Amino acid sequence: MILPIFLPHFGCEKRCIYCDQTYITEKEDYDLTRYVCDLTDKIKEPFEVALYGGDIFGAKKEELEKILKILKPLIERSKGMRVSSRPLVSRKGFSEILELLKDHRLNVVELGIPTFNDSILRFLKRGHTVKDLEETYRYLESRGIKVALQLMVGLPKETEMDIKETVRNVLRLKPHYIRIYPLVVIRGTPLAEMVASEKVRLVSFEEAVRRAAYIYASAKKNGIDVLKIGLTDNRSLRENVKGGFYHPSFGYIVRCYIFLSVLKKIFSECGIRGKIRIEVSRRDVSHLCGYKGENLRSFEKEGVELDITVSDLNNWEFRLTDGVGFYFKSNAIELFEETLN
Ligand code: SF4
Repeated sequence: MILPIFLPHFGCEKRCIYCDQTYITEKEDYDLTRYVCDLTDKIKEPFEVALYGGDIFGAKKEELEKILKILKPLIERSKGMRVSSRPLVSRKGFSEILELLKDHRLNVVELGIPTFNDSILRFLKRGHTVKDLEETYRYLESRGIKVALQLMVGLPKETEMDIKETVRNVLRLKPHYIRIYPLVVIRGTPLAEMVASEKVRLVSFEEAVRRAAYIYASAKKNGIDVLKIGLTDNRSLRENVKGGFYHPSFGYIVRCYIFLSVLKKIFSECGIRGKIRIEVSRRDVSHLCGYKGENLRSFEKEGVELDITVSDLNNWEFRLTDGVGFYFKSNAIELFEETLN
């Protein structure tokens, strides 16, 4: 289990135009010492400590030392530590921070790279380039640290080509795992003003889901773990969303979309209408039905009624039969990319 310790904007030199971690993490002025004491008593299962919500390598060494001192009882009991950061190995003090973290059982660094397009990174005021990501990634890897990537979809100015570029780079770098976040427009951020004054336009919710599905399916197909799709739901974030693609079930909707697209393509290409039997694993029944049954309604609109049977197939596998002569067995993740053209 991963035990997140949120340190909102800890180490952030400047803010990226879309970010406000106090809403995202729902932690502002909380007493870390007390929080850690409570956790240390409560947790019984094995865990890793994760420092999220900031730019850890941007922190001052003395300030990070203070935080690590508070976390020491937890870190000593843990299986190791993960941290999230901007990818900027060239900044002063990077190697000292790395040594300090290694002394505190660092396992994984999650590098935020919302897109592999430098012009969008500049627009977002990320303060780093794609080249910085490359250099940071290699630097960490060469020192035995596992690297994960935090990606985004639905960014201003982002095109289909940018998503393809993201996928290409993920497959090339082979990170330990990825996370996929949809863009969320948060009250009070520069991005919220730009969206309100129509200086930037965003794609539709369905398009953001489609882009996330493409990254997800490509990573899974190539054996790269996807740890999370979407932001963790919390009241403070929900109350301060001014646009973008926030949904408490974003990840689930993305997974449902994969089944929807793949099956619609098969039904259309094979001219299937009427009742058809489909077998899937128990875990995939809800993905097949869709968020609040939306997939089933969508199939019905196209004249197809699914007779769902749970079987011992693997996750994402499905078997279609019409009882007369049609038989098709495949894997939705394997087929998803073909639905994009
Ligand atoms: S996205 Fe990351 S680096 Fe940018 S302001 Fe937010 S926490 Fe800091």
